Amino acid sequence: MDSSPPRPTLPPRREPSSRRTVHERLAALEESQRVLERTLTGLAREAGVLVAGPCPRCSKAYMLGTGGMVHCPHCGNRLSI
Ligand SMILES: [Zn+2]
Repeated sequence: MDSSPPRPTLPPRREPSSRRTVHERLAALEESQRVLERTLTGLAREAGVLVAGPCPRCSKAYMLGTGGMVHCPHCGNRLSI
């Protein structure tokens, strides 16, 4: 019978995100952005949707094009192409 009290275990040491260098965080963000861009491009191709430049009204999303029109999925701005 084991009567020894449970030992508290320290959590593994982890570098707080604030300790990571700006360069490391930027590199991670850039890679994440590339992953998202590739995914978006692939998804658009499979769906037959054109991905155009950033919305000229809000700049919060890329314009998506179908049937001679592009629209912004964020603000709903519509333009003919
Ligand atoms: Zn917009």
